[in-house]
Amino acid sequence: MPKYVYDFTEGNKDLKDLLGGKGANLAEMTNLGLPVPPGFTITTEACRSFLAGGALPDGLEEEIALHLTALEKRMGRRLGQADDPLLVSVRSGAKFSMPGMMETVLNIGLNDESVRGLAKQAGGNERFAWDSYRRLIQMFGRTVQGIDGELFDGALERLKAGRSDLDLQAEDFQRLVETYKEIVRAETGEDFPADPYRQMRMAVEAVFASWNAPRAVLYRRQERIPADLGTAVNVCSMVFGNCGMDSGTGVAFTRDPGSGQQGVYGDYLQNAQGEDVVAGIRNTMPLQELEAIDRDSYDELMRIMEKLENHYRDLCDIEFTVERGKLWMLQTRVGKRTAAAAFRIAVQLVDQGLIDLDEAVTRVTGDQLAQLMFPRFDGGADRKRIARGMNASPGAAVGKAVFSSERAVELAAAGEAVILVRRETNPDDLSGMIAAQGVLTSRGGKTSHAAVVARGMGKTCVCGAEELEVSAAERRFTAPGGVVVAEGDVISIDGSSGEVFLGEVPVVASPVVEYFEGAPVGDDELVAAVHRIMSHADSARRLAVRANADNAEDAARARRFGAQGIGLCRTEHMFLGDRRQLVEDLVLADGDGERERALAALEPLQRADFAEIFRAMDGLPVTVRLLDPPLHEFLPDYTELSVKVALAGDRASGKDRRLLAAVKRLHEQNPMLGLRGVRLGLVVPGLFAMQVRAIAEAARAVPGARAEIMIPLVGAVQELECVREEAAGILAEAGVEAAVGTMIEVPRAALTAGQIAEAAEFFSFGTNDLTQMTWGFSRDDVEAAFFSRYLDLGVFGVSPFETLDRGGVGRLVRIAAEEGRRARPGLKLGICGEHGGDPDSIHFCHEAGLDYVSCSPFRVPVARLEAGRAALACAGSDTR
Ligand code: PEP
Ligand code: MG
Repeated sequence: MPKYVYDFTEGNKDLKDLLGGKGANLAEMTNLGLPVPPGFTITTEACRSFLAGGALPDGLEEEIALHLTALEKRMGRRLGQADDPLLVSVRSGAKFSMPGMMETVLNIGLNDESVRGLAKQAGGNERFAWDSYRRLIQMFGRTVQGIDGELFDGALERLKAGRSDLDLQAEDFQRLVETYKEIVRAETGEDFPADPYRQMRMAVEAVFASWNAPRAVLYRRQERIPADLGTAVNVCSMVFGNCGMDSGTGVAFTRDPGSGQQGVYGDYLQNAQGEDVVAGIRNTMPLQELEAIDRDSYDELMRIMEKLENHYRDLCDIEFTVERGKLWMLQTRVGKRTAAAAFRIAVQLVDQGLIDLDEAVTRVTGDQLAQLMFPRFDGGADRKRIARGMNASPGAAVGKAVFSSERAVELAAAGEAVILVRRETNPDDLSGMIAAQGVLTSRGGKTSHAAVVARGMGKTCVCGAEELEVSAAERRFTAPGGVVVAEGDVISIDGSSGEVFLGEVPVVASPVVEYFEGAPVGDDELVAAVHRIMSHADSARRLAVRANADNAEDAARARRFGAQGIGLCRTEHMFLGDRRQLVEDLVLADGDGERERALAALEPLQRADFAEIFRAMDGLPVTVRLLDPPLHEFLPDYTELSVKVALAGDRASGKDRRLLAAVKRLHEQNPMLGLRGVRLGLVVPGLFAMQVRAIAEAARAVPGARAEIMIPLVGAVQELECVREEAAGILAEAGVEAAVGTMIEVPRAALTAGQIAEAAEFFSFGTNDLTQMTWGFSRDDVEAAFFSRYLDLGVFGVSPFETLDRGGVGRLVRIAAEEGRRARPGLKLGICGEHGGDPDSIHFCHEAGLDYVSCSPFRVPVARLEAGRAALACAGSDTR
């Protein structure tokens, strides 16, 4: 039979799986010799067994009884003993902190007799004894017996009649006990259980059951805590902070969790018990004031806090109680902190000699770094939230709402800050997105056009704010509650939280971005900490980090941010704006001659595009992807054009008619699965050849340029061979060397990677399409359409478009990596889907043996950090 119960002297901090965080740390503190009230922990394993079988597992009650007897012996009193009672608390404690989500019952062991014994113990303090008894009935009634807490609170409020709890006397509490007992009788049809052992057993069962309380289930889902862990139960002998003004209870941090500064941070409440501090029954006092009230307890607490920091080598948070001048430790754990504090503390601990730089890098996360990189709204400012969408690209943006790209460009040129608001964006909105401070859409998920492009530009974006009714025609949107925002009205959007606010919310800039942009480290402690951690992460990582960029400006920024090349230069953005006309000419070309002329007109423009990027990258590799999207994306909208032609009737131009015919001809039911990528290259003669020639000539013109040519959407080696052969001829003619490789973004490509590698000099995993096609999820639709339901149901904990789905898509990546390298040893492998900038996915890429990740320029520092963390996490077990 498993051991279900551990005395505090038996556990340690590494047993969190079994004893929960609270139990493991109580054991650790006990073994450190700190003043922890004696007690024991019932394991999570017992909880799991209880939840599975609906009853306490065999043998558990006996084991609890044995430990309780030992505790009673040690304390010299029995549980609920009438003249001198031992009282215990029964507290939940899961592996991961779930604050306030599960149950706790204090003062177990009190009844009509032992309450008098307690008063005697406390030197005749009747008030304290009756206050403790009413607290037991209240907590027990609410949490164990499921009685509405309002009934108890209401009775207390009526009794107080405006007085502070400190003004209540023993007789008041005694009367309250009677009222509470009546509530219990009325609500359950039974008397409040007087038997202390029964109280304890019922409380243990209630704590176990509270693992599956609705709020706990919801919290776990949100925090991605596995549902099958169960909670431990801690049974701890009671100490009292509510037995006079020489007693009290408090919480403390060993340093400021907001800034990381060392010092004393905490709150203390005199003559109060447990929950009173957080419940806010009275104003707490700053912990420093304890020094004046009770110097000895304060000094001891300071010594213990230092000891805990040195022992845990990290910021700790603490709960403690002072009982008539004696300090007791009730809880400690490694404390939560802000992103800025995380960086500062990690480096402070290095300087104190408590941890080394390797460990400092593992103590911070890419998400925390990302938070530090975006301008933020001033937390203290007033704000009126009008909607919430998806947090597609972080940051804080303020500007006048505009409903078309033209207007965005116009107002921006006049020096106005604007937010581009669209139902959804399309490639035509690029100029507007560039001009705007931020982008807000009412449709589309995190891989929608708006989201991907905005992230690429480091521009704030909230997408899929479905509560908004956007009318571009009327130049306004409406939000719930009858709010109407017209063109020119100021709004503020928070891309980190997805919130949309009416009016201007003040913004603060990020010093960390200024540092990445090349500003000196200076004496800003946060920037200095980021610098040290980033330098170390760079020296530790194996993965190279490249950027997705398709213009010289982004390329230059990516380099400043530390990119070691361009992993994906999408060429389609180069076909927009004025050049759209040339693409139309290409589509409408009648015969070889017209088509060649259209391509010839595009070629010098492309050459100039590539040359600029090669220059910006100054000898670093640049992977240029040949044209990927279906051609009709460059043509006018079918409906609009049909209306235009119909209205014009006989007067419609020949060009418009031909265009309409072309749009019709190119229309596809499933364009993402249609004529795009390599298929386009094979079907439109001369298109890819023109692009390859432009790349080759640009590379020849820019000294040191390192071009790599990448073919999209390949599913069969034969497709690649056709393009490759033509490209090889053009490169040879130009006298330029450039690797030719392929994206792996169609499942068939992954599954036939061994064959494909024969014709590819590198693979780059296009995990956006690979996810779309592996799951059969339309990447533009499903996130907004039903992912929230899927997340609620636990189908997945996070969108597979955000974090790489290791079990499915990841498996295809591994297969392709292995089979590709088997066929071509040393085959270079990278990833250029959105996952290339996602922390968890970067760890996967490290584990799968990829050579580089490529992500939007603004994610480059995050990727550098996570690549370093991944290497350190795998150190020793790296198989490559
Ligand atoms: C991909 O599919 O992952 C990719 C990088 O290509 P795109 O997003 O341009 O389709
Ligand atoms: Mg793709």
